[in-house]
Amino acid sequence: MPEKPVNVNSQCPYCGVGCGLEILPPAEAGRAVRRDADGTPMWATRGDRNHPSNLGQVCIKGATVGQALARGRLRQPLYRTSLSEEFKPITWDKAFELLVDRIKQILKDKRQHAIAMYGSGQFHTEDYYLAQKLLKGALGTNNFDANSRLCMSSAVAGYSRSLGSDGPPCCYEDLDHCSVAFLIGTNTAECHPVLFQRLIKRKKRHPRNVSIVVVDPRATATSKAADLHLAIAPGTDLALLHGIAHLILRDTGFDSDFIEEATEDFAIYAKLVSEWTPDRVIAICGIQESQLREVARLWGRSKGVLSLWSMGVNQRREGTAVVGGLINLHLLTGQIGKIGAGPFSLTGQPNAMGGREAGGLAHLLPGYRLVDNPSHRAEVEKVWRMKPGSIAAEPGLSAWQQVEAMEANELDLWWVAATNPLVSMPNLERVKAAVRQCPLVVVSEAYTGSETADYAHLLLPAAQWSEKAGVMTNSERRVTLCPAYRPAHGESRADWKIFAELGCRLGFGDQFNYSSAAEVYSEFTTLTKGKVCDVSGLSHELLQEQGPQQWPFPLDSEPSSSSKRLYTNWHFPTASGRARFIAEQPLGLAEPPSEAYPLILTVGRYLGQWHTMTRTGKVERLKAMHPEPLLEIHPDDAERCGVKHGNLAAIRSRRSRVTAKVNITADIRIGSVFLPMHWGFNQDLACEANALMHEQACPISKQPELKATAVVVTQA
Ligand code: SF4
Repeated sequence: MPEKPVNVNSQCPYCGVGCGLEILPPAEAGRAVRRDADGTPMWATRGDRNHPSNLGQVCIKGATVGQALARGRLRQPLYRTSLSEEFKPITWDKAFELLVDRIKQILKDKRQHAIAMYGSGQFHTEDYYLAQKLLKGALGTNNFDANSRLCMSSAVAGYSRSLGSDGPPCCYEDLDHCSVAFLIGTNTAECHPVLFQRLIKRKKRHPRNVSIVVVDPRATATSKAADLHLAIAPGTDLALLHGIAHLILRDTGFDSDFIEEATEDFAIYAKLVSEWTPDRVIAICGIQESQLREVARLWGRSKGVLSLWSMGVNQRREGTAVVGGLINLHLLTGQIGKIGAGPFSLTGQPNAMGGREAGGLAHLLPGYRLVDNPSHRAEVEKVWRMKPGSIAAEPGLSAWQQVEAMEANELDLWWVAATNPLVSMPNLERVKAAVRQCPLVVVSEAYTGSETADYAHLLLPAAQWSEKAGVMTNSERRVTLCPAYRPAHGESRADWKIFAELGCRLGFGDQFNYSSAAEVYSEFTTLTKGKVCDVSGLSHELLQEQGPQQWPFPLDSEPSSSSKRLYTNWHFPTASGRARFIAEQPLGLAEPPSEAYPLILTVGRYLGQWHTMTRTGKVERLKAMHPEPLLEIHPDDAERCGVKHGNLAAIRSRRSRVTAKVNITADIRIGSVFLPMHWGFNQDLACEANALMHEQACPISKQPELKATAVVVTQA
């Protein structure tokens, strides 16, 4: 950390757009110094003009992040033996002693799989990497999963199945070149605002050169800017994608050269989509035939089609199949590996991509390796300097499986780091009951008052972004160094340091002896050599000197010379070198509407709030933008349910009941209602939307269907 404050450059710690920020010391922000309640001067932030991902643009969350860094912070480790007691301060030494004693006992009993960690896309890559080394290497359990499981694991699985590897093949510049932007299951205007503004700017400059298509049951700020809005019935997206393919094959033309040269399994796919006739698709999706024909024409006849998606596609019990259905359209039309085209998954968290690279899910190892591959395990054990066979051969427990394990009294230690699952998980009452049964719940957290902390025995104060150095990778595969520019708050420590110290105290002193985050990163990069996500040419030093870089960035690469797009040579990392068509029949929603629960609830996000509000909830300007959660309901449904605009409504599913103020709006489809997911039980206006949602998940990605559940709405 610099001794005297100077301007620093970093990446925004909120969404996966990963905007570059310029951070101005309190005294040099060009205006009166703002201070926190305790007198701490606030740092100011603005968009970094030199960062290629945002070119100086920034949204209100990134512009105000400096105001949330010092408020409501956890200052020292706290401990209690049972949830009914008050927390008492303890030293770090005591906290480590407690952890070491408990872990050693568990290992002595050969119950290493009774330990699990639930991490976060808020981690830096160094935090992610050492968490893998600690759990998967030192402790011998693959029970590390992250909130990315709830966010984009269907994208990971979908890319891997269709293209042979994870890794979005596109870049943000494609927004400046595409002729069609096909946005499905994403409210980009609110959830990835800087990217959306880039697209809108282009549309304004060249209205005839770009068409925006939005597929969403709800009219959003995104769909209102679209040329074509397909307000399909919830859960019918795969039927729509097959219907588009049907018309492309039958009428508008496909890319036979690309299919012939670069793909496999086309015949099986063509047979399947031949069943998805326009009549069938429009009946299921609830759209007009002219809309279906228009979107098929755009896909079949346009120069560059860029598809963008996020949780509306991923958070589905057939999320991987829907991602496959979307990539199929790109293969059918040859819209991949070229300028302005490709399937582009937008990540929710700022470093979800880095987590994927570091192996931060229960079935992964660093460098896009797999736990169930013996040579992958051996390669990682060698770099980790662990005994052969240290890494278990079976994938660990995914997010929801960790909850089930606690329910079955199979977990002795559950460690949550940098996230708040007691707001973000589905079926929250079941989660609360399960967590109460776990004998030791550890929560590493920067702030006080998180809902998950209410269920912890041991609270560890974590240094957050701005107080620790590390790298993050954004949605376009761009890696940015985020330096430490403020002192750590109280006794808080960087997550990677906590993991390293614990590793040393557990007897792995040689393997966890790091003097800096740069050293941790350096070890991680060696594990990416020759992989799709190769960053072996990157280091903290290079990123500091040369600025953010996109991967692949192999050893000896020239800065800024790396490939902006993947698969430009039509060669894919599958066994055959060809991309695969995925032929799967749509399943629809796991919990469709019924007589007792006649409406479909979908949940989402507001522009000015982030995830579970632990940080954005502390910024007055953001709170004023969205003072409360609102239930969106169509006028016809409101009348049927007997609820009035501005009054409180009760929303009940098979699992729980919440209340929210009613916003009657024609923006939502008849039969659907919407709630934001931000407000947990510790907020003044609690509205635990995810408590209503079910946990049924995609069998491939294990991502729960957080996007849709059946509810009934009544007057509260
Ligand atoms: S768009 Fe995302 S990354 Fe960019 S400033 Fe806003 S929240 Fe931060």
